[in-house]
Amino acid sequence: MSYVDEVLEKVRAKNASEPEFLQAVDEVLNSLRPVIEANEEKYRKDALLERLCEPERQFKFRVPWVDDNGQVQVNTGYRVQFNSAIGPYKGGLRLHPSVNIGIIKFLGFEQIFKNSLTGLPIGGGKGGSDFDPKGKSDREVMAFCQSFMTELCKYIGADTDVPAGDIGTGAREIGYMFGQYKRIRGLYEGVLTGKGLSYGGSLARTEATGYGLLYITEEMLKSNGIDIAGKTAVVSGSGNVAIYAIQKAHQLGAKVVTCSDSTGWVYDPEGIDVELLKEVKEVNRARLTEYAAKRPSAEYHEGRGVWSIKCDIALPCATQNELNIDDAKQLVANGCIAVCEGANMPTTLDATKYLQENKVYFVPGKAANAGGVATSALEMSQNSERLSWTFEEVDSKLKGIMVNIFHNLDEAAKKYGLDGDYVAGANIAGFEKVVDAMNAQGIV
Ligand code: NDP
Repeated sequence: MSYVDEVLEKVRAKNASEPEFLQAVDEVLNSLRPVIEANEEKYRKDALLERLCEPERQFKFRVPWVDDNGQVQVNTGYRVQFNSAIGPYKGGLRLHPSVNIGIIKFLGFEQIFKNSLTGLPIGGGKGGSDFDPKGKSDREVMAFCQSFMTELCKYIGADTDVPAGDIGTGAREIGYMFGQYKRIRGLYEGVLTGKGLSYGGSLARTEATGYGLLYITEEMLKSNGIDIAGKTAVVSGSGNVAIYAIQKAHQLGAKVVTCSDSTGWVYDPEGIDVELLKEVKEVNRARLTEYAAKRPSAEYHEGRGVWSIKCDIALPCATQNELNIDDAKQLVANGCIAVCEGANMPTTLDATKYLQENKVYFVPGKAANAGGVATSALEMSQNSERLSWTFEEVDSKLKGIMVNIFHNLDEAAKKYGLDGDYVAGANIAGFEKVVDAMNAQGIV
């Protein structure tokens, strides 16, 4: 049996109740086969893959808080410190009722390769809780965040582990968590990224993931002789990533005609009105029905359906496994030429395979959405030197990083005869640097 198959078997047996984690490991290890086969004996002896698939450390803790009726609520908090070979752990905090240890491990595992791809010195980690900020008052959110940080602060720090936002964790939540960290530890340090501008945040961090997604999409299309201007795009989600992806797509001359949330989706053939979407989602924290009510050209539909709309480019920006095999078939039938993932693992394995087999350019999330964590690392640099860079400075570094990521993964794929397989290219390019560092640091 090959070493990859041996390890896949062990990982499946050991983590049987964590399907998302298994899916992520499956995708990464399978696409790394050519690299691993070239070093099989050494890697097996060093148990390299077993070490890569086992988090260095993971924490699970109780988060009690009091709601507005005086009732005590109890949530579960998690932090997985997956791999610190190339730098302090870095990765967001997800607040969503679906969160469990398997979801956090899948995200942490992906984060190792994503962070490596950015070229910046950051290791892989992830955390969160099954707390749902939706429908909670500001005071309830603050009570949760303070309780969550009271425990989390024991394990994180500017040089050890630097969490950030993710689904459900935006500027409000980061603010409450930062305040509690500072209060307990007595340290004013860059322990979280995604902070507000008045207390150490970076300009362009809010926009970074969505903008970065479009920078890499533009570069990938350009290197295949295609101009993004004039293309029609469909986007899912209407959160942080989706909003700024739509904004940058419009700036680059493409037209985005959809967005969605967990209850429904909007088709707006005239192009999504980003300012209105921001007002509905960022200011009013309302549903998309409010967008449709205020925009005569928009149709609102319950449920899911974004991928049924004819497009050139599809940008999934909501959550994992939101684009399945039927959606992939529909996209191909409608002539879609590119799928670039703004969310983490939004495309199922069979859908990814189908898209690639049908010559749809496919850029995986660990490369395509790396602009968020890259800019978080730039926020860390600014905090360390106690300086703030201008928006243009950060944005131009972000663009440079995304363009580099594309060429690195493109070249890594070519080096192994996998021309155009950007999934393999991203995994290989991310893996090589981490493995080099792991080898240099001995068996730890
Ligand atoms: P937000 O919470 O800001 O937005 C998430 C969006 O996705 C919302 O529109 C939400 O709808 C929708 N959504 C969430 N869960 C589901 C679900 N189970 N089914 C359908 N729709 C859902 O999160 P972000 O925009 O920050 O994150 C989106 C994705 O991008 C995630 O996969 C995240 O891990 C990834 N990502 C984010 C980065 C960042 O910098 N923010 C960086 C890199 C990756 P509703 O409001 O109704 O819940």
